[in-house]
Amino acid sequence: RMLKRQMECRNDIHRLNAAFLAIYQSLIPPEEERAKQYQLLALLEKLVCKEWPEARLYLYGSCANSFGVSKSDIDVCLAINEDINKSEILLKLADILQSDNLQNVQALTRARVPIVKLMDPGTGISCDICINNVLAVVNTKLLRDYAKIDGRLRQLAFIVKHWAKSRGVNETYQGTLSSYAYVLMCIHFLQQRRPAILPCLQGMETTYSVTVDDIECAYFDQVEKLRNFGSANKETVAQLVWAFFNYWAYGHDYANSVISVRTGSIISKREKDWTRRIGNDRHLICIEDPFETSHDLGRVVDKFSIRVLREEFERAADIMQYDPNPCVTLFEPY
Ligand code: ATP
Ligand code: MG
Repeated sequence: RMLKRQMECRNDIHRLNAAFLAIYQSLIPPEEERAKQYQLLALLEKLVCKEWPEARLYLYGSCANSFGVSKSDIDVCLAINEDINKSEILLKLADILQSDNLQNVQALTRARVPIVKLMDPGTGISCDICINNVLAVVNTKLLRDYAKIDGRLRQLAFIVKHWAKSRGVNETYQGTLSSYAYVLMCIHFLQQRRPAILPCLQGMETTYSVTVDDIECAYFDQVEKLRNFGSANKETVAQLVWAFFNYWAYGHDYANSVISVRTGSIISKREKDWTRRIGNDRHLICIEDPFETSHDLGRVVDKFSIRVLREEFERAADIMQYDPNPCVTLFEPY
C-alpha cells in the first residue's frame, strides 16, 4: 500500500509538472514578436540618429533579458553624450517621435526613472525610452547570462511572474515588487538549492567587467562553460515552484535577512544598515541589487503592501500543497 501511495504521489508531481511546463510554453513569445521589436528599434534608431548622430539605442528589460512573456512592452535605453540635462533630451525626443506618427507619445520627466512612452501603430508595440541608464543594460545582461545556465530558471521565473501579474503583486507604484525583483528572487533561490542549480557568477573569476557611474560590474560571463552546472539536482519546475513559495511564505527571515545574488547567499540587514526606516525606505523585504548594492529592490514595499505580499506567498504555498488543481487556482485573478 505504502509503495502504491508513493507511486501515486510521484504521478501527481509528474502530472503537475507537465501542466506547469505547458503554461511556461504558452507564455514564451513567438519568433515573429522579436522581429517586430527589432523593426520598431530600427525605426527609432533612424529617427534618433537624425538628431543625434552619435547616439545609440539598446534594448534592456524583459525584451532582452530572456524573461519576457508574450506581448510585453519593450524597454529602450538611449545612450547619448550631451551636456544638456535629461529632461531637455526627453522633451526633444518626444517632439521628434510625435512628428513621425508614433502614438501616445508622452515624456514623463518627473518619474524616478524619467522616460518617453510611445506606441507604434505599425507593430502594435508599446515602448519606454530612458536616457543613459547603462546599469539597467548591464543587469539585463547578467539576468540573460544566468538564464543560459539552467533552463529551470526561465521556467520558474515565467511561472512566478505570471502568478505575480495575475494576483496584482507586480505593481511597484502600489508597493509590490517589480519583475526585476522577482527574477532576482528566483536566481537567488536556485543558488541556494542543494545541490545548487545556479552558481554565483559575481563570486567567480572575472571575464566581463564594465564601470558604470563609479560602480564596477564584474562577473564570469562565459556561461556556455556552465551548461552542466545544475545537473546533479534533479528537481522539476513543479517542485521548485512549490519550494519557492514555501520559502517566501514560511522560510524567509523577514526581520533579519537580505537576499543577495551578488554573494549567492543570505546576508544580514545589520551588516547593510538596513535595520531602520530611512526616509521612505523601510526594508520590510530586502532584495539587494547585484551591482548597485546600496539599492534595496524591496524599498517600495510598505507596511500595508508587505501584508498583501506575504498573504499571497502563503496562499500560493498552500495551493501548491493542498489544492487539487494548482495550475488553475494559483493564477486566479484577485
Ligand atoms: P516586464 O516583463 O514586467 O516588463 P521587465 O524585466 O522589463 O519585466 P521591469 O521591472 O519593467 O522588468 O524593469 C525593466 C528593467 O529595468 C529591468 O530588467 C532592470 O534592468 C531595470 N530595473 C527595473 N527596476 C529596477 C530597479 N529598481 N533598480 C535597477 N534596475 C531596475
Ligand atoms: Mg519591461
